[in-house]
Amino acid sequence: MPTELLGLTLEELRRLAGAWGEPAYRGQQLFHALYAERRFAFARMTNLSRSLRERLERDAGITLPAVQQRYTSADGTVRYLLRLADGRAIETVWMPEARRQTLCLSTQAGCAVDCHFCATAQLGLLRNLTAGEIAGQTLVVLADQPRQRPTTNIVLMGQGEPLLNYEATLKAVQLFADPKGMAIPLLKITLSTSGIVPGIRRLAAEKRRPKLAVSLNATTDAQRDALMPINCKYPLAELFDACRRYPLRARERLTFEYVLLGGVNDTAEDARRLVRLTRGLRAKVNLIPWNAVAALAYRAPTDDAVESFQQILRRGGRLAFIRRSRGQDVAAACGQLASLDSSAPPAT
Ligand code: SF4
Repeated sequence: MPTELLGLTLEELRRLAGAWGEPAYRGQQLFHALYAERRFAFARMTNLSRSLRERLERDAGITLPAVQQRYTSADGTVRYLLRLADGRAIETVWMPEARRQTLCLSTQAGCAVDCHFCATAQLGLLRNLTAGEIAGQTLVVLADQPRQRPTTNIVLMGQGEPLLNYEATLKAVQLFADPKGMAIPLLKITLSTSGIVPGIRRLAAEKRRPKLAVSLNATTDAQRDALMPINCKYPLAELFDACRRYPLRARERLTFEYVLLGGVNDTAEDARRLVRLTRGLRAKVNLIPWNAVAALAYRAPTDDAVESFQQILRRGGRLAFIRRSRGQDVAAACGQLASLDSSAPPAT
């Protein structure tokens, strides 16, 4: 079996080089070629010796997800349908802006968490992604996008609950942040969770961790139990206790995402409760007006309800932003990621 290189850290590649009788720095050159220069064919890694390239051709491989389909939105957002080596499909979203680009990555194929407003939930959990498959989404999309901005942000908010695929997700974060590779600062990487409290506590203890966002979406346990059954396991009091203990770096804030569902969680009383829940936290709230998903019976909030929700938060001293979702016309917006053929084998 050839050794799969995608997903190996710098240290692991250095060790591999050593095991092959090469100096350890060859592993670093390989890491640089793969993650910093995005050269995926060994023949193009001309910084390596010819003999090492020949050995790599024989004994190693780089298995990137394959681009099966691109759906380009009128606003420039691209939703990628990517095919993994075992035939599973996942989705990755590319969002270009004037001075930065944001990549929304999947950490699992499908998801087991079953948030009722989310299209991905309808797939169920198909499987965890490996660190290489998570990092590979970034490499493939960056290689596919010729016009790039100076800054890349990563959000782990695509298919899946990242804290239920903890090791692979954190390993991918280390790959993104390694200064000898992609060199994406940790503060430009955001992990979004539905509220897996043991995962939040574990992340809090990591020396090198991404920023944390919590997908909140409700302000009472009864309301959140109904929208996000994970709340029955980790209710609001426990979730906010973990958030209050979460260590923040200078200028870092927690993010609370709040999908506004018309007539469900968008009232003035909800907004006032949200002010109370977030009291004393260094945090911001992103308000995300619901995006229609055909199979789900929710409706978008009115513009008035969205505005007044934000005003109540702001009057309560909270930082609150309205995030109009991007890529809605290609189903790339929050809660819409669920390729219908995610479990299908590849076309042969
Ligand atoms: S919102 Fe996130 S955690 Fe919830 S079902 Fe969808 S993908 Fe899973």
